Amino acid sequence: MLTLGASNPKALYLHIPFCTTRCSYCAFYSEPESSWRGFQETYVSRLEQEIAGVVQETGGFETIFIGGGNPGSLTCEQLSRLLVAAKSNQCSEVTVEMNPETFSESYFPLFEKKLVTRLSMGIQSMDDSVLRQLGRNAKVEDNLRAIALAKKAHGLYGIDLSFDLMAALPGQSIQMALQDIDTVVSLGDPGHISLYCLTVEEGTDLARRVSERELKVWDDDGQMELLERLWNRLGLLGYEHYEVSNFARNGRYCKHNLVYWDLDTYIGLGSSAASFLQSESHSWHYSQKQDLHPFAEGTLFSGYEKEMLDSDQLVEEYLMMALRTNRGIEKNLFKTRFSLDFDSLFSKTITNFDPLWYNDTSHLFVLSKVGWMVLDEIVLRLALQIPQPLDRH
Ligand code: SF4
Repeated sequence: MLTLGASNPKALYLHIPFCTTRCSYCAFYSEPESSWRGFQETYVSRLEQEIAGVVQETGGFETIFIGGGNPGSLTCEQLSRLLVAAKSNQCSEVTVEMNPETFSESYFPLFEKKLVTRLSMGIQSMDDSVLRQLGRNAKVEDNLRAIALAKKAHGLYGIDLSFDLMAALPGQSIQMALQDIDTVVSLGDPGHISLYCLTVEEGTDLARRVSERELKVWDDDGQMELLERLWNRLGLLGYEHYEVSNFARNGRYCKHNLVYWDLDTYIGLGSSAASFLQSESHSWHYSQKQDLHPFAEGTLFSGYEKEMLDSDQLVEEYLMMALRTNRGIEKNLFKTRFSLDFDSLFSKTITNFDPLWYNDTSHLFVLSKVGWMVLDEIVLRLALQIPQPLDRH
């Protein structure tokens, strides 16, 4: 069993590492269909038993998220079993990710039985040549069909909808990216949109093609101009920009992700899943190191490696998470949580920042949209001020 700590973990993440084929840009852990076909049941069975173990220990979770990979590689019955094991009365949000090409009405019983309250779909682009470059299995016609089905499920069962889009893609113009937003909003009317810029991850097919100059990616200035246009368009359409890459209408935030951004505790189960847990005095991560087959055939709770976090690592992680959101950092909470005074620690560094990057008041430090564009640099410069624990001096 995992050591769960004193505070009850708020969220549960379940990783389903099954995809049909690999997208060219993907650095997540997932396996192509040739590796898992016929093996889903073994994987689901271990997950189901581990879920039962943690639910017995914790009493349940406030949010559940089944992600991947593509959870649409499992049947409705398999997903139901995982959720029946995981769900408790205190659960207020259950999200399942689904790739458009595998989404069908066969999953509607999940919504009808209220096992799932939120559907998150990776649309990514509404242009066939761009989707092809990304190595997506879905074509525009699959995306259109899936958006219509998702809207139907929303109408019938009241589930929340979230669509993922990607920007700064090879072969994509600003106009095309704006058009993608307009199309998914007008057809699907989602309460939530995630908009990610393409990042070229080492070891991916995309990285190889970029290094061989077969594909050209956007430069920093181009990306900034693009993001500004897309963020403005989403704002005009009524979406609140509540996190660097996330937008919600009428407060339809992703509660599960808010747990991560608050650096609250969560458990992740399945190959490559991560957990963050705390006791009164310590914080630690678990990460599941077993690949698909060793995980599915391994003993329960094997392969979760524990890594303790030092106090400075914890503060840095908190800065990275909290500054992603439009709630920013409440200085009183920061003091209570870390026994450190935010202003004494950071104000000298902050005065050297471009004033357009942030808003700093006596009780709050929050980044502007311009600041979000240079988030990594800001966190890096602040992190240099965090005191290291005495035993590392
Ligand atoms: S569907 Fe998602 S997880 Fe699977 S390869 Fe594509 S990006 Fe990666």
